[in-house]
Amino acid sequence: MDSARRRYIESCPVGCSAPLEEIDLVLPEGPLLRCPECGQLVSQCGETEYVRSIARWNTSTGTLPGSESAARHEQLSTRRLRKMLALLGKPPQEVQLLDVGCSSGAFLMTARKMGFDVQGVEASARASETARLAGLKVFTGVLESARFPDASFDAATLIELIEHLRDPRVLLTECRRILKPGGVLLISTPNAASWTARVMGRRWHGFSLSVMGGHISFFNARSIVVIAQRCGFETVLTETRNVRFFERGQCPAAVHAAAKIVSELLNWPARLLGRGHDLLAYLRKL
Ligand SMILES: [Zn+2]
Repeated sequence: MDSARRRYIESCPVGCSAPLEEIDLVLPEGPLLRCPECGQLVSQCGETEYVRSIARWNTSTGTLPGSESAARHEQLSTRRLRKMLALLGKPPQEVQLLDVGCSSGAFLMTARKMGFDVQGVEASARASETARLAGLKVFTGVLESARFPDASFDAATLIELIEHLRDPRVLLTECRRILKPGGVLLISTPNAASWTARVMGRRWHGFSLSVMGGHISFFNARSIVVIAQRCGFETVLTETRNVRFFERGQCPAAVHAAAKIVSELLNWPARLLGRGHDLLAYLRKL
């Protein structure tokens, strides 16, 4: 293969040895690749395209929710944080939490309000500066460069981050090192085995390199459990949530409204069957 067009990801990011196989779902970057062992899907994008696509996150607003979705975002974050507390068996005041890829700090602000002792790590200089202006302690760079001492944190979170990485095992291994024994790691990522992904196929936003700024590696409930185990974590709980068939603006308003009703009806069965759009894994350091 021409070196300029070399794939950014060459083997299964979960660490399987089987060669990746092309499937018949074709993105602008080429057909998706699938790992026959864990079902992980991988983009064929090149490094230049990847670097260009992630530049969109280097903004001062980062992933701060707009006023229309701020309440929902806070409710969602609170639910996740409460679940982590239940797993740790501690009150928030006794939990040191690190959010890796914290962007402008929305999740950390919710955690701080609940009483957690919080810190963040964020590669984007502009987004991390916004978080610091809000009074948050945030390191600009990647987690490995922050050089936290061993066993520094009770809990860590990777929210919508691992789908952007070529080698997520490096990050998970570093998370394990900085967690205390029994520490909890929460990973959230879009579910490539969701009904939404199945129905929308190549039009699914989760697969879009440009819309989602660098999505290149697509997990399912099985591949999350496998990577967790390979990096020294026990999977305590996985869950999937939500069914979405169209993003607003992708179809006429009436179709969007009808699709929304159908989606609401499908939410419960999707959760029961692990086919929801958002995949969450609560892991414990072994
Ligand atoms: Zn694999």
